[in-house]
Amino acid sequence: MMATTHALFGVALAAATLAVAPEFGTAALVASVAGSVFPDLDLYAGHRRTLHYPVYFSAAALPAVAVAAFAPRPATVALACFLVGAAAHSLSDVLGGGLELKPWRATSERAVYDHFRGRWLGPRRWIRYDGAPEDLLVAVALGAPAFAVYDRPVQVFVAAVLAVSTAYVLARKSLAGLAERLVPLVPRALRGHLPERFRAAADPASSGEAVAPSGTATASASEADD
Ligand SMILES: [Zn+2]
Repeated sequence: MMATTHALFGVALAAATLAVAPEFGTAALVASVAGSVFPDLDLYAGHRRTLHYPVYFSAAALPAVAVAAFAPRPATVALACFLVGAAAHSLSDVLGGGLELKPWRATSERAVYDHFRGRWLGPRRWIRYDGAPEDLLVAVALGAPAFAVYDRPVQVFVAAVLAVSTAYVLARKSLAGLAERLVPLVPRALRGHLPERFRAAADPASSGEAVAPSGTATASASEADD
């Protein structure tokens, strides 16, 4: 799922909070959006493992919501919103594609790392890959309520996020192709500093993950798609 889709989940979460605690609207909005995008700060350092905690964020969110409900203050509401956003992000990435550079090929069985069980959770591919048309559809659905409940500044923010999302969706496959062409030009000594999915583009053997044989039904069906 796109980082922008996660950000718009944060806006939707804040809009829902607004209905029950309108006095904490600003704290809820800032914390919800921050928490919803926070896990993706690991994009270039152990993506979907370093800052994605599907179990621990969820376990922390439950008591935080209870505390916010019984002792509503800007700080408790903000903490609860941040943790619910981060938990939802970590969990919902399982519904997307795998970690490979071209997730529409469906060759990676890694979606999100589950630190509790000590293993990778496999991608469900309800949203086939980040930047898929259905990803944009979810983003629009999550952003839409903001136009009914928020004033102009938030509406402009949501519209801008949707515009960026649309541009990303249109460019998604070209960007992956561009990365595939550029990575081999990076000196071999520096490639170790690139995220794994980029290194794998230049040298599939370096991915550290068993890649499905190209002759499998899944891979061959999506070959023509890139
Ligand atoms: Zn993520």
